[in-house]
Amino acid sequence: MKGYLVKTPKFVQRMFPKRVWTFPNSSLSANKIGNTIYLTFDDGPIPEITPWVLEELKKHHAGATFFCIGENLEKQPDLFRRIIVEGHSVGNHTFNHRNGWKTSTEEYIDNVLKAEEEMNKVHEARSTIVHPKYSPVRNNMKDGNEGGKREDIPKIKSEISDQRSSISNLFRPPYGKLTSRQSHILQQKGYKIIMWDVLSGDFDASISEDNCFRNVSENVKPGSIVVFHDSLKAEKKLRYVLPKVLEVISEKGWSCEKI
Ligand SMILES: [Zn+2]
Repeated sequence: MKGYLVKTPKFVQRMFPKRVWTFPNSSLSANKIGNTIYLTFDDGPIPEITPWVLEELKKHHAGATFFCIGENLEKQPDLFRRIIVEGHSVGNHTFNHRNGWKTSTEEYIDNVLKAEEEMNKVHEARSTIVHPKYSPVRNNMKDGNEGGKREDIPKIKSEISDQRSSISNLFRPPYGKLTSRQSHILQQKGYKIIMWDVLSGDFDASISEDNCFRNVSENVKPGSIVVFHDSLKAEKKLRYVLPKVLEVISEKGWSCEKI
């Protein structure tokens, strides 16, 4: 295989300065510099591997960011909500893993928005069913008044709608491929395009598990954005590599945070 670069060269990063490659060099860096690593997991969520990833992260008190595919989270709404409940970030990875270079701009943007719609729908279901803060029933009980206080009602509504619009503004293009026009439109819509500086290669059947580990351990540094995949293709390598990577990060005194 090997049609990809493990370490994203600086000149590529400079060619697309509006995309986020690492945190120290990005416009988002202000309060993010330090000993922080940003682990990211693309292509899930799927029941075969995502719950295991969440358990591993929990063991190391590590935060991470999951770039989810719309049709996967549609099939696994509980798993998608679990990612958020456990304190991680989610991001948009299109509805069905589109390649921006092979898709018209209109179709591509529609596909991203369709994924966003699905993310919001699944997340809202949690807000109204699970999250007691947004339950009008609880509010009424607290007030001892069947109708609730009138002034409380608009407040609850606005809290719900805020949450609807702000589930995530993070986007990662599948294969790292999108055109300048697609990128520009998404940024105008408020998306942050999150790329990476370290690609684990966990999806690559032609490299060994140890090679995959070294791809990360030899290149990761504070501020790095590292790409893994919670996918069937990457599962075997990920089960070998992720615990070791989390161990190395802990040993160096670095921490993992969500974006
Ligand atoms: Zn992907």
